Amino acid sequence: AKLAGRNRFCFFTSRMNEEAEARLRMEGELRRAVGTDQFHLAYQPLVEVSTGRAMGVEVLLRWSNPELGHVPPDRFIPQAETSGVIVPIGRMVLHTACRDARRWVEAGHTDLRLCINVSPRQFQDAGFLDDVRAALGNSGLPPGNLELEITEGLLLTERGDVDVLLRTLTDMGILLSIDDFGTGYSSLSYLERFPFDTLKIDRSFMIGMLERQERKVLVETIVAMASGLGLKVIAEGVETAEQLAHLAAINCDIAQGYLFSRPVPAAEIPPLLGRVFR
Ligand code: C2E
Ligand code: CA
Ligand code: CA
Ligand code: CA
Repeated sequence: AKLAGRNRFCFFTSRMNEEAEARLRMEGELRRAVGTDQFHLAYQPLVEVSTGRAMGVEVLLRWSNPELGHVPPDRFIPQAETSGVIVPIGRMVLHTACRDARRWVEAGHTDLRLCINVSPRQFQDAGFLDDVRAALGNSGLPPGNLELEITEGLLLTERGDVDVLLRTLTDMGILLSIDDFGTGYSSLSYLERFPFDTLKIDRSFMIGMLERQERKVLVETIVAMASGLGLKVIAEGVETAEQLAHLAAINCDIAQGYLFSRPVPAAEIPPLLGRVFR
């Protein structure tokens, strides 16, 4: 038994070492990747439920590394976040996406909404506001076309000036949305306290929504609450026509998901923006 115990101990430590090594390796690769062409942006259309019109896009970061291959964002974003590399990477996302979106606005999609994910670490960086101003200034994208997606995690940080920062952004004309709603340590009070324009219901709520009565009720209640507060509601992860029909029935404003399109390269976006999904 003693021997088995020790073996198990060895097994655990070597596994921990492997994980730590993998993390360090990814962190190194992330640092080296900044400023190279390893990152690119994918865009996923947002569709107005009542009309079927594609009225916006969410930017989703993609990383392809010569050593590690395609690394999914759920794996590298947390790592980039803790190491701080998300700051220069996020700056690149802002600049590139605003430039792309400006072209689409110029082409006639004047009310386009460009949704960009902002992680708490980025938001807390002293240069964040300047980065946003520079991205808008350099691209010429009107601030009203930009929506920043923020998670509940940011609102829980001890920083006293989150209110001020969010206010400054909305005063500039930028829209704010609360992302992954319902997954974190949700406190409903921040819907009142912070100046959000949009609430995004997390994808996990779409899974089994039509089969599980409790989930159906939750989604319906979130939509009703949000519209009562004057917020637009986006449902993510919409994969079936049945889900869409239900969202239409409960007056959800906007839907996003594989039913309409997967995230695609910028070049594929203009034809999608002209389309009506029915
Ligand atoms: P998110 O903000 O919740 O983004 C939505 C995720 O759901 C995306 O995953 C998208 O590809 C996926 N998705 C959309 N529709 C469907 C669907 O119908 N079915 C299914 N199964 N999935 C769908 P993705 O691209 O892997 O991104 C994962 C997360 O990584 C994002 O979750 C976001 O939190 C983060 N992320 C992505 N890009 C950025 C970025 O530029 N900056 C920051 N800070 N985070 C990012
Ligand atoms: Ca998002
Ligand atoms: Ca989500
Ligand atoms: Ca998210």
